[in-house]
Amino acid sequence: MLKKERYQAFVAYFSAHNPDAETELHYSSPYELLVAVILSAQCTDKRINMVTPALFGRFPDAESLAAASADEIFPYIRSVSYPNNKSKHLVGMARMLMDDFGGVVPSDINALQKLPGVGRKTANVIASVVFQADAIAVDTHVFRVANRIGLTLKAKTPLAVEKQLVRYLPKETLGIAHHWLILHGRYICVARNPKCEICPITWMCKYYEQVIGKRK
Ligand code: SF4
Repeated sequence: MLKKERYQAFVAYFSAHNPDAETELHYSSPYELLVAVILSAQCTDKRINMVTPALFGRFPDAESLAAASADEIFPYIRSVSYPNNKSKHLVGMARMLMDDFGGVVPSDINALQKLPGVGRKTANVIASVVFQADAIAVDTHVFRVANRIGLTLKAKTPLAVEKQLVRYLPKETLGIAHHWLILHGRYICVARNPKCEICPITWMCKYYEQVIGKRK
């Protein structure tokens, strides 16, 4: 299958079968999504959704979070991974939002990346989900699944994967393709033993063609 055909097949399949894919993180404002995405690094969305209701109840906006100390935030997020660092990041992020951005989450990817705890992946999620920017965030699932399917070739870093996906995916699908790849990676194309036996896209998958198909 040619690269162009693979991209067409990928977009056609998921457009038909998961046209409303979206983040599994619960949020009701850009601020809440930013907090949830920062917390979700190296942690599951399910776990984050368990802690954010109380956290958002106590710190409903950047102003209240900026006025808190890391020690005050810690009890609310103690069950997520790296709670010490994340408490500090949240305070730093909220203070910078208040000091430099008038308490409003910026739409620019470079501005977002200045916030403590916000790397390129988080910035792309916010830009894409909140501001519908032509951006795609590459997390561990997106990185793995894009490479396995063969959407990306010889892409050894998240940035290389991002560049190839941005180049070949239709612009209007960048936002939703991020969710397609994450969800497929979370439930079927899992890290250690991909569930190829139940995967509906074996026919377009390079890994299946080169590894599983040859075993048969
Ligand atoms: S066929 Fe296997 S490797 Fe390919 S996308 Fe499906 S689960 Fe992943």
